[in-house]
Amino acid sequence: MADDVAKVIIVGSGMAGLTAGIYTGRAKLDPVIVEGIEPGGQLTLTSEVENYPGFPNAINGMDLMQAIHDQAARFGARFESADVVSADLRRRPFTVELDDGRTLAAHALIVASGARARRLGLPAEEAYMGRGVSTCATCDAAFYQDRVTAVVGGGDSAMEEATFLTRYARKVYVIHRRDTLRASPIMQDRARSKPNLEFIWNTVVEDLLVDGKGVKGLKLRNVKTGEQTELAVDGLFLAIGHVPNTEWLKGQLPTDDQGYIKVKPGTTLTDIPGVFVAGDVADRRYQQAVTAAAAGCMAALDAEDYLQEVGVV
Ligand SMILES: Cc1cc2nc3c(=O)[nH]c(=O)nc-3n(C[C@H](O)[C@H](O)[C@H](O)COP(=O)(O)OP(=O)(O)OC[C@H]3O[C@@H](n4cnc5c(N)ncnc54)[C@H](O)[C@@H]3O)c2cc1C
Repeated sequence: MADDVAKVIIVGSGMAGLTAGIYTGRAKLDPVIVEGIEPGGQLTLTSEVENYPGFPNAINGMDLMQAIHDQAARFGARFESADVVSADLRRRPFTVELDDGRTLAAHALIVASGARARRLGLPAEEAYMGRGVSTCATCDAAFYQDRVTAVVGGGDSAMEEATFLTRYARKVYVIHRRDTLRASPIMQDRARSKPNLEFIWNTVVEDLLVDGKGVKGLKLRNVKTGEQTELAVDGLFLAIGHVPNTEWLKGQLPTDDQGYIKVKPGTTLTDIPGVFVAGDVADRRYQQAVTAAAAGCMAALDAEDYLQEVGVV
C-alpha cells in the first residue's frame, strides 16, 4: 500500500489547485491533481481576463489556465481526469474515491474544488454564459461600457455588483423578487445613490431574449400582479450567491453557514492536520483568480511543512 500512497493529492484544477500543483511539483512532492469535471476551473468560462497581473492587454481565460496547467506539468504534477465522489479524512493515509471507481491515497490533501455561481435555471442561461450572462461584475463590467444591464438579487453582493456596474453601464436595473432588500443598509445606500441605477421590485426573470449572438432582453413577471413585461438589456448579471463544491466531503470539514470550508485565519489549515484548503471553496469574500492563486501557493507551502514535520519527506 505505502508505494501507492501519494505525498499529496490536490482536488481541483482551477487557479488554486494548479498553483498548488506548481509549488508542490517544484518541491518534488510529485503531486496528483484530480481535475474534476471542469479542468482549469471557472476561468475557462470567460473569454477575457483583464485583472490578472502580468497581462496588460488581457488574456483569454482558457489560454491562461492551459499555461498554468503546463507549468504544473513541467514540474511533475500528474493529472487524473476524474471527479472525486467521496473522501475519507478520518483515517491515514487519506483516501479519495473517484467517479471511475478507483481510490487514491495520500499523506496530505489539498482541497481546491472551488465554487459555482447559483443559477436562475433559465433555459438559455448556460448557453449564453459569457455572451451576455455573467456571474461576476468585477470581471465583466468593463465589457458593458455605455450599455444597459440588469442584476438579479437583493443581498450585499447584488448591491456591490450593481454599484460597480454603474461605473460602466449607461443603465443598471436591479431586479428583486421582493420589495425589500436583504443587503446591509450601507450597501443599499451606496446603490440607491447612483443616478443610473433603478430597482424593479417584486419581479422575477422568467426567460432570456436572445438572438444567437447575445442577450437582447429579459422576460419579466411581477410576482404580485402576475403581469409579464419585456425589458431590453445587453447583459444580465446573476448575484444570487455561490455554492461551494463540497458535496464530496460530506460534512467532514467544518463549514460556515453558507457551506464554505473554515480555515484557520490567514492560513490554509483545517481542523485535520494534513488537510489544507485553498481558493473559492473557502473564500466567500474575494473570489478572484489572483486570490485563489495566492491561496494555492499557501496550501502547497503548508502541505510541504506538514510532510516534513511528519517525516514523509
Ligand atoms: C465567468 C467568470 C469570469 C471570471 N472572471 C474573472 C476575472 O476576470 N478575474 C478574476 O480574478 N476572477 C474571475 N473569476 C473568478 C475566478 O474564476 C475564481 O475566483 C477562480 O477560478 C477560483 O479558483 P479556484 O481554483 O478556487 O476554483 P475554480 O476555478 O472553481 O476551480 C475548481 C476546480 O475544482 C474542480 N472540482 C470541483 N469539484 C470537484 C470534485 N468533486 N472532484 C474533483 N475536482 C472537482 C473543478 O473541476 C475545477 O477544476 C471569474 C469567474 C467566472 C465564473
